[in-house]
Amino acid sequence: MKIIGSPMQMQAVSRDIRRKGESIGFIPTMGALHDGHLSLIRKARSENNTVVVSIFVNPTQFSPKEDLKRYPRVIKKDSLLCEKEGVDFIFYPLVKQMYPEGYCSYVTVEGLSGLLCGKSRPGHFRGVATIVAKLFNIVCPDNAYFGQKDAQQAVIIKRMVDDLNIPVKIKVLPIVRQKNGLALSSRNIYLNDNEKEDALVLFQSLNLARSLIKSGVVDAGKIINIMKQFILKKKTAKIDYVSIVNLNDLQPVKQAAGNCLIALAVYIGKTRLIDNVIIK
Ligand code: AMP
Repeated sequence: MKIIGSPMQMQAVSRDIRRKGESIGFIPTMGALHDGHLSLIRKARSENNTVVVSIFVNPTQFSPKEDLKRYPRVIKKDSLLCEKEGVDFIFYPLVKQMYPEGYCSYVTVEGLSGLLCGKSRPGHFRGVATIVAKLFNIVCPDNAYFGQKDAQQAVIIKRMVDDLNIPVKIKVLPIVRQKNGLALSSRNIYLNDNEKEDALVLFQSLNLARSLIKSGVVDAGKIINIMKQFILKKKTAKIDYVSIVNLNDLQPVKQAAGNCLIALAVYIGKTRLIDNVIIK
């Protein structure tokens, strides 16, 4: 396994691989890898000749008040994990290599970026779309792997790839959870023991919604209210949003039936966590 920092070198390596007719599977990450990331790497490993993982804590997707400085950076541990999973290249650039002085080009996926997480994180998805577009141009992957954990991100990236005719296939894989249901996230390390306990309320509230729907309750407003009441029983919880939306355009639905997404963002203490479930 090789670690490459220079975007130009990465591009040259990728072009050589593609020229030989070999496929590249790509997993963009911000590092602090866990089993959720590893599930994407394993899938990529099984479907491609070459696997590239990028590790880059992207400053343009953090607002000034967010946790950019504090975000975990554990490259040594990450590279051992990648090596073990048979990754061929880690692309690990510096901020100044991705955003050199004078940088001023951004990608905005309009509409979709202002919904759900975009309401409380203005500019977040502009940063995400920009970095992913840049990474696609640098790594030139055939296939790129994303987690359903960031459901809105996956919808936005698919839209961007379609709209901008980027020649890459987007694959979205299921959420990996702890045994107790908590969705794995690099941010879970911010939680203290009590908060870890309270954080289970995200998954539990999604399960509650699922069982309400199974029992015939489909009124989205009613389900959302019941979920909110349930979440707010936890002292450390503060709701950002609980929404039931169409899976394709992320617009709110009135009835929770067929191809909708129940998505939520909840602060547990100071840590903002997201989770979701697809209702088929
Ligand atoms: P991040 O490092 O948080 O930017 O995430 C990199 C990729 O891993 C994104 O496509 C995420 O959706 C995905 N991911 C993060 N957590 C999970 C999880 N628990 N299960 C599956 N995929 C995940």
